[in-house]
Amino acid sequence: MNLLGLHHITAIASDPKVNRDFYTRVLGLRFVKKSVNQDDPGTYHLYYGDVVGSPGTALTFFPWQGLRRGRPGVGHAMATAFSIPAPALPYWQERLGRLEVDSTPLTTRFGEDGLEFTDPDGLRLELVATLESDSRPPAPSADVPVQFGLCGFHSTTLALADARATAALLTASMGYRKSATAGDRTRYTVADGGPGTYVDLLTDPSLPRGLSGAGTVHHIAFRVADDDAQREAHAQLTAQGVAVSPVIDRAYFKSIYYQEPGGVLFEIATDQPGFAIDEPIATLGTRLSLPPHLEPHRAEIEAALPEID
Ligand code: ZN
Repeated sequence: MNLLGLHHITAIASDPKVNRDFYTRVLGLRFVKKSVNQDDPGTYHLYYGDVVGSPGTALTFFPWQGLRRGRPGVGHAMATAFSIPAPALPYWQERLGRLEVDSTPLTTRFGEDGLEFTDPDGLRLELVATLESDSRPPAPSADVPVQFGLCGFHSTTLALADARATAALLTASMGYRKSATAGDRTRYTVADGGPGTYVDLLTDPSLPRGLSGAGTVHHIAFRVADDDAQREAHAQLTAQGVAVSPVIDRAYFKSIYYQEPGGVLFEIATDQPGFAIDEPIATLGTRLSLPPHLEPHRAEIEAALPEID
């Protein structure tokens, strides 16, 4: 299977305006797409990332106003880590403190330092000051100087009661390989490796069972280059007995979905066509983007969505 790393991570939020302010103003990501949840068009689907929301940088949210908080835990992708240049760590420590976001230093992990904190809904985030080269340019931001910006995903941490079946899926079916182990955490990587590819499997018996709700991850998407690679991935998973959804056209990428044995929903998404398919790059995220089948209902959809600008 020709996976290239992480594509996007989708999480659940409550207030869409609070969500948008946090990711754009506090973390300095670009708001690249304002769309709706295709399965629930009365709800936004908000996308943040680098200048174009490149695969490997896109964190997306379904904000359900008033939704109760979930509890990240076993059976969840319970932490989402972004890569920052090592010299940016003191900047973020100071900035988060000044903006009243409580952060704590990460226990040094595989030789790298970092910070952990939560978003306004309790979603667990990490900044990893990577010692590896990461040449992905951060989003241009009025709030965060470019030399300190987030370069995209570093890793996701899946919390599991028993990691063996998930590890087998990653290595036997998805082309991942083990890259490091420390204590109850084992890191897997794919393709060329490096930030943006890592999946950490964590088996910590002290963790509670996860409960879905605001502040939890909905699913993790992995990258393939194109439709051919996705078809091949679908065939390989199916041949190995994994129940995989049909290909679904998400307008900005095509997707297939399956559940990994530990309970986390996985998706494989194509790099093409990307977020500039229905808006110019310069004005991404400024108007409500709807998939063609919902365009005839634009007036009702817009009227029902809360104002976030
Ligand atoms: Zn997705």
